[in-house]
Amino acid sequence: MKIIIIGAGPGGYETALLAAKRGVEVVLIEAGHVGGTCLNEGCIPTKAFCKNAEVLDGLKDAEAFGVTGLSYGFDFKAVAARKNIVVEQLRGGVEGLLGHKLITLVRGKASFKDAHTVVVGDEEFSADYIIIATGSVSASLPVPGADLEGVLTSKEILDLEELPKRLCVIGGGVIGLEFASIFNSFSSEVTVLEYCKEILPRFDTDLAKRLKQCLSKKGIDINTQSQVLSISKEGDQYKVTFLRKGKEESVVADKVLMAVGRKANVDSMNLAEAGVEFGPRGVVVNEVMQTSQPHIYAVGDINGKMMLAHAAIFQGLVALDHMMGVDNDIDLSVMPAAVFTSPEAASVGKTEDECKEAGIKVKCLKSFFRANGKAVTMGETEGFCKVIVEEETGLLLGCHLFGPHSSDIVQEVCALISRKSTLKQLQDIIHTHPTLTEVIQSAAHQ
Ligand code: FAD
Repeated sequence: MKIIIIGAGPGGYETALLAAKRGVEVVLIEAGHVGGTCLNEGCIPTKAFCKNAEVLDGLKDAEAFGVTGLSYGFDFKAVAARKNIVVEQLRGGVEGLLGHKLITLVRGKASFKDAHTVVVGDEEFSADYIIIATGSVSASLPVPGADLEGVLTSKEILDLEELPKRLCVIGGGVIGLEFASIFNSFSSEVTVLEYCKEILPRFDTDLAKRLKQCLSKKGIDINTQSQVLSISKEGDQYKVTFLRKGKEESVVADKVLMAVGRKANVDSMNLAEAGVEFGPRGVVVNEVMQTSQPHIYAVGDINGKMMLAHAAIFQGLVALDHMMGVDNDIDLSVMPAAVFTSPEAASVGKTEDECKEAGIKVKCLKSFFRANGKAVTMGETEGFCKVIVEEETGLLLGCHLFGPHSSDIVQEVCALISRKSTLKQLQDIIHTHPTLTEVIQSAAHQ
């Protein structure tokens, strides 16, 4: 069996590695760097910044831990250099793995000649199956000034050489808030403008509200229900004008980050030539990632289902299993998600609002990090955990939390929900003391 994979982001390269391990011959085509958005301009570089932000936050809090006389500086260029080293190290690792004898890595931009032929430059490739994993690109607002230099995408802000004194972030979703939190820790003055009623529109509203309060307390100026009308440049600074509650207001900043979502990268591949159906949200796929052409699959951001690196990886696995006739227990509807603000937020399963809308009767069990021994010793007591349980069956349906290491903690409930476990089963699991994971135990025993 032979497959062509277009795009070597997490969806593409992880699937290529797995296929090769199973003895499948793979042609992997990549127009840029292996690792895709995730490794080069997404998950990894931002998390390298998050670590620096965490160190700075710790230093700011040091006096509370009896540390005195501390003097420290902050070198943004060194932070950027460390981020680049992290990215290069991991990229080198992926390149090494892709040296597998069954994988041919082709550098260049791929497009379809027809449903069975993929072209790169003057080379043509064909195979039994094709996987499209070409990811997504930053979206922008159709407002005057959106294309001004200094209005940055999430990729461009990672390459800044100077720390902006004032940063305006347009968009209070996951990417916008992560950068807002990072630059707040780096001591920039940060303003967030969000169109919706609440930040993190797809998250549990309770969680979003409380996280907003927490981030506001840290000094981030978060404005919801704010519709950006225009951006203009005045000297070295940018004026972002927005409409809030019928009133025009503005914010002045040294840089503006446009973080209003991402759009599937459907334009570059001649999808129409291949007869692959796609729309504004991306390539249309069924539950096993098959497109309108049964031998062509589309995984990751390109299908617009869930724009997360681990979603891309597991969709790739589902697609590969399907073409090879392998059974699995993967439930793609149980998809954990994290927001790497300070503190972090994380979520898995149904939200309280979704349960209400679906008419599912639930109980919401809550606990707070301020009552968690480990969190108190760490001096990181902001946050809460909410576990959602179906009243009738006791089945675990969701978990939403923010607080220290939420992105790690959520994984326990993710494992239980994906194995259709009940509250009683969670209650019977022993948690190590003192650990942050006890926040789940406390919620479960409410
Ligand atoms: P991509 O990673 O985008 O890879 C697609 C690849 O295809 C690219 O390398 C591209 O060069 C290549 N390509 C495109 N067109 C062609 C062509 N015609 N021919 C050949 N190659 C082509 N997700 C998380 O889960 N956790 C996080 O913490 C997180 N943080 C993020 C932070 C930021 C700032 C951003 C922007 C995203 C973040 N994401 C995060 C999302 C995550 O990066 C994506 O969901 C993930 O990279 C999608 O993987 P993919 O394989 O579908 O596509």
